[in-house]
Amino acid sequence: MPGFELFGDLERKEVNDVLDSGVLMRYGFDGMRNGHWKANELEAELAKTFNSKHVQLVSSGTAAVSVALASAGVGAGDEVIIPTFTFVASFEAIMMLGAIPVLVDIDDTLTLDPKAVEAAITSKTKAVMVVHMCGSMANLNALQEICDVNNLVLVEDACQAIGATYEGKPLGSVGDLGCFSFDFVKTITCGEGGAVITNNRDYYLNADHYSDHGHDHIGNDRGAETHPFLGYNFRISELHAAVGLAQVRRLPEFLDIQRKYLKIFQETLSQISEITLRTVPEGGEESGAFFNFFLPDLETTREVIKAFKENGIDACWNYYDNNWHYIRKWDHLKDLKSLFPISEEVKVGLSYLKTTSFEQSDYYIGRNISCLIKLSWTEEEVKSRAQKMAEIIKSLL
Ligand SMILES: *Cc1c(COP(=O)(O)O)cnc(C)c1O
Repeated sequence: MPGFELFGDLERKEVNDVLDSGVLMRYGFDGMRNGHWKANELEAELAKTFNSKHVQLVSSGTAAVSVALASAGVGAGDEVIIPTFTFVASFEAIMMLGAIPVLVDIDDTLTLDPKAVEAAITSKTKAVMVVHMCGSMANLNALQEICDVNNLVLVEDACQAIGATYEGKPLGSVGDLGCFSFDFVKTITCGEGGAVITNNRDYYLNADHYSDHGHDHIGNDRGAETHPFLGYNFRISELHAAVGLAQVRRLPEFLDIQRKYLKIFQETLSQISEITLRTVPEGGEESGAFFNFFLPDLETTREVIKAFKENGIDACWNYYDNNWHYIRKWDHLKDLKSLFPISEEVKVGLSYLKTTSFEQSDYYIGRNISCLIKLSWTEEEVKSRAQKMAEIIKSLL
C-alpha cells in the first residue's frame, strides 16, 4: 500500500517549488508564491481522479471524517452508524462533534452488513458511514437504498481503499460525501493529509469554510473575508499538498502494481480448499492495497499468524486482538475514558457497548488474515512469498 516506498524526483520537485517560494500556507500571499498553488492543484487533480465535482483538502483522514459529517449538519446527539471493524479515527471523529457512534456488525465483505445497519436505525440516526477496509468495499447499492428510504446521509470512508471502484465509480464518489487519508502509510501520501469529496455544492462550501475557521474565501484578501459560521483549523499545508500532488499522478502506476500482486496471492492461496477469499460485492474492483482471506477457525488463524512471523512473512495481521481496528479491545471507548467531561446524552448513547456482543463480527474477524501489499516488492518476491504462505498454511491444516 504505502506510496512512500516509491518516493522520487517527482515528489522532490514539487516540494522544492514550495520551498523556493517560501509560502507554506495554502491561502493568500498571492504576490510571493511564484504562481504555486499546490493545494488548489491537488484538489483539481483529485476531482479528476475520483470523478467528483468538489474536493476539500484537510489536515488528515480523521479531520476529513469530522469535516464531512459537520458539512452535512451532523452534530450533538445525532447517531452515526459505523462498522465494528474500522480504525479508531471513525468514532473519534464522530465524538468530536458531540455525536454518537453506533457500531454494528460486519459481514464477509469485512465492512458494514446492510441488515445490521437497518436494524440499528433510530429516530436519532443522521448518517451511515461505511468504512471500506483493506482495499475493498461494502455493498453500496444496498446501503444507498437504506439511506434513501430512511433519509440518511451516506458517508464513505475510503482511506484504505484509494483507487478501488464500485460499478466503475471510484470509492468515495458513490455516497453523499467521501473521505480520504493521505497519511504516511496510505496508498498515496502527503505525510499527513486528507480530503473530503462530494458532488453536493452546499456540503462542499460548508467543508471549505468549516476547515478554515469559517472563512468564506471570497476575494483574495483574507483580512476582508467574513465568517458566515463557526469553524476550525483543519487546513493542509502547501508542503504536504506538494508531496500529494506528485503521488496522485502516480496512482495509476501504484494501482497496477497492487492489483498484479493481489492476483498472484489470490491465485496461489485459493488453491487451498480450506481458504475462502473475502467477498467483494458484485461490480466491485479492489485497490489491491491488501490481500484478505478467511481460514476455518480462530485457532488455526492464530497459529498461521504465529508461523508467518516465525518464517519472515511480515505485514500480515489478524485483527481479533488488535486495539486499533477492532471493537473487542477498545476499552477506552467502552469505559469512556475522556480527558474532559462527556455529555450525558453521549454517555447514555454509548452505554450499549458494555452489553452488546458482536458475535457475527467476531466470526469474520477471528478467521481473517489481512496482508499488506507493498509497492516495493518485485514480482519474483511476491510469487515466492505467496508460495511460502501456502506451504505454511497447508502444514497447519
Ligand atoms: C488511516 C485511516 C483514517 C484516518 O486517517 P489519518 O489521516 O491517519 O487521520 C481513517 N479511517 C481509516 C479506515 C483509516 O485507515
